[in-house]
Amino acid sequence: MTSDLLHEGETMRLLLVEDDEMLGHGVQAGLAQAGFAVDWVKDGEAAELFLGAEEYDLLILDLGLPRRDGMEVLRNLRNAGKDLPVLILTARDAVEDRVQGLDSGADDYLIKPFDLDELGARVRALLRRRGGRAMPVIRHGEIELDPASHTVTQAGRVVDISPREFALLQELLENRGRVLSRSQLERSLYSWKDEVDSNAVEVHIHHLRKKLGSDLIRTVRGVGYVIDKVR
Ligand code: CA
Repeated sequence: MTSDLLHEGETMRLLLVEDDEMLGHGVQAGLAQAGFAVDWVKDGEAAELFLGAEEYDLLILDLGLPRRDGMEVLRNLRNAGKDLPVLILTARDAVEDRVQGLDSGADDYLIKPFDLDELGARVRALLRRRGGRAMPVIRHGEIELDPASHTVTQAGRVVDISPREFALLQELLENRGRVLSRSQLERSLYSWKDEVDSNAVEVHIHHLRKKLGSDLIRTVRGVGYVIDKVR
C-alpha cells in the first residue's frame, strides 16, 4: 500500500472503540503515554466512520458496542479488504466471542480487565509483526533511541524525555537527512481531536536541544527541521 510507504517512520495512529467511559479514558491515556496517537470513539457506527476517513495502523475493538456490534464492525472491515491489525477486547466468560472474533479476522484479543502494560506490549507486537521488522534501536552518534522501551540515552546515560519529545525525536531520527515540515511533525504528535498549539513543535524542539545538544536538530528556515546524517 502506497500510504504505508508515505507514513513510514511516523508515530503509529490507533483507533480505540470502547463504550465504557472509564476504560476508554484509561486505555487512551495509557497508550498516549506510550507514544501512540489514539483516537477514541464509543460506538460501532462512529468506528466505521473513522475507519473510512482516516488511515489507522491498528484497531482496538470492544465487541459489545451500541449502535453497531463490534463483531459486525470487524466483518465489515475485513469484507472491505482492510488488513490493519485488530485487537479485540472481550469479557472473561465470552469464549465463543473470542473464537468468533479470531475467526472473523481479529489478530489478537485481551480479556477484561487487563493490564495497560500488557495492552501496550500486545499492540507493539502486532505492529512489529505487521511491519515485518523488529523495532531496532536507533543510534545516532552518542544518542540511542529504543522504540520498544521508549528510552533515550546519550553516551550511555538515560535522558529524561517527555512522550511528545520522544515521538518528535524518533520521527526526525527515522528520517535523517530529510527536512520535515512543522505540519509533518505535528501530525506525528497529535491525534485527530487534539488542539494543537501553533508553537508546540518549536517548544519541543527547544527542549530537545537543551537536553541533547543545540547542534543535533538543524532549523531549515521557512521549511522545517532536520537531523543530519552522521558523517
Ligand atoms: Ca462494551
